[in-house]
Amino acid sequence: MSSEEKTIIRGTREWAVANIDCCTGCPHDCRYCYARYDAVVRKRQIPAESWRQCVVRQEDVNRTYPLYDGQVMFPATHDIVPEILDDCITVIARLLQAGNRVLIVTKPHKVCIERVCSEFSSQKKQILFRLTITARNNELLQFWEPGAPGYEERKECLHIAWSRGYETSVSVEPMLDSEDVVDMFHDLAPFVTHSIWIGKMNRIDTRVQVATAEEREQVNRVSAGQDDARIRKIYDRLKMEPLVRWKESIKSVVGLELPREAGLDT
Ligand code: SF4
Repeated sequence: MSSEEKTIIRGTREWAVANIDCCTGCPHDCRYCYARYDAVVRKRQIPAESWRQCVVRQEDVNRTYPLYDGQVMFPATHDIVPEILDDCITVIARLLQAGNRVLIVTKPHKVCIERVCSEFSSQKKQILFRLTITARNNELLQFWEPGAPGYEERKECLHIAWSRGYETSVSVEPMLDSEDVVDMFHDLAPFVTHSIWIGKMNRIDTRVQVATAEEREQVNRVSAGQDDARIRKIYDRLKMEPLVRWKESIKSVVGLELPREAGLDT
């Protein structure tokens, strides 16, 4: 890898200068999850069946967080789910108390979004919601993100945060249904104040287990939907939309300049 390649910013660093987490494991159990792959396959820290359980790390809940020199993302390697909502609220409160701008990234549960919105209404200017909404088709969501809420609940959460005056954004990464991504953009855009990020499923061949015919079919479907020709078509249809942001995986296909500084969120 050249030194120029090394300076390119990828993944969550496009959005934040630091990632904060307080838990190991995630009941959403997404098939493409990097954190799951890292803990279960790469580092062999926990068995695969344990990933769906949330193990809170109290030392990370009770830490005193510093003021970072840019936007911080919470969480990055788990999600905000009802089982650990109190702990997540504590971490967000501590980050805000230190003066941070907090990017809350989640496949949202209504009960969690309502609570976060209520708890932090006096600090909403320090918060940017980024709700991960990867498709409208609930069968696809159920296959790829089996423990996460369906489309209707995620869209309702977006509406809740938006209607209560929070800054809102959406992450369509990974794009699970590229045929529908333009229509989904128009469905969600009225409730988005900041941005709608679109990105590919990265390292699909390494991270996604393929043992059955159905798994092969679903992987082939996503791969075909994010080939260069398809990405260029989506780019052409959405490139004039001011809310759209392209992740590095798409910038590199369509020839946009790649980010070289963390946390720019642009
Ligand atoms: S919600 Fe995020 S952390 Fe949880 S399994 Fe899915 S990708 Fe992994």
